[in-house]
Amino acid sequence: MIISVASGKGGTGKTTVAVSLALAAGYCQFIDYDVEAPNADIFLKPDIKNIKKVYIKQPYFLTGTGNDFSKCAEFCHYNAVAVIGEEVVFYPELCHGCGGCILVGPQGAVREKDMEVGEISKGIVRPGIDFLKGNLMPGSMRTTTIQNELERMLNKDGIVIIDAPPGNSCSMVMAVKNSDYCVLVTEPTPYGFNDLLISMEVLDTLKIPYGVVINRDGIGDNSIEEYCKNKNIKVHIKIQNDMGIAKSYSRGMTLADYDNAYTEKFQAILKDIEKTVLVQ
Ligand code: SF4
Repeated sequence: MIISVASGKGGTGKTTVAVSLALAAGYCQFIDYDVEAPNADIFLKPDIKNIKKVYIKQPYFLTGTGNDFSKCAEFCHYNAVAVIGEEVVFYPELCHGCGGCILVGPQGAVREKDMEVGEISKGIVRPGIDFLKGNLMPGSMRTTTIQNELERMLNKDGIVIIDAPPGNSCSMVMAVKNSDYCVLVTEPTPYGFNDLLISMEVLDTLKIPYGVVINRDGIGDNSIEEYCKNKNIKVHIKIQNDMGIAKSYSRGMTLADYDNAYTEKFQAILKDIEKTVLVQ
């Protein structure tokens, strides 16, 4: 069973909820898909056993040989190649590694090389959480390349908890698209509500069932709760706005570290999700 944890708005406590679900499950695979800013390891404190570099193929041009690379520039859909006079200019950050310029360019004058775009860390959180984290290299825009690599490592035999990136863009879709269920974390503010509605639209389109966690309850109004009630959307838990939780978070502590009662509460959420997934 794959459970993703997502949030249209950043800073709502998505990672706190994802980590709490993983700890409540005890034995599971936890994947930090938020590859631009992974931070679940601060709370889960995995023992990292292995780090694997992720590369993409990129072309390089043998210049100064009198070759004409204008066909490469014409072909490149992403404008990663420009020919100015006799010069060829390559913009690696625009290149998608399709290899087309190698096929259409002068024979042997466009070659391929590996370029590092990030890494995957693999570790263990005792007693039984297999931890995976994608980490995009600063300056790289190949978020989905790292996420594709994580997808290949999904272990569908047990429970998988995915910490998705914030927002509702491609990288969020990549993170949630294989889920059996998605937990949407929000806060009771107009921004939280607005971004929650967009996330719901994404999940409706993908036909993925979902429920809601309202974090920092008490800072706004009850519009989200009312909306969920009217639409028959499950609100799994409301987590009070609590200075003690915020202080624990800033020290790298989990909700269960702050108050052990959260372990049982999240175990109950997991049971609820399991029931929902089984009847789908
Ligand atoms: S590999 Fe594809 S995307 Fe990259 S420069 Fe060549 S044609 Fe453009």
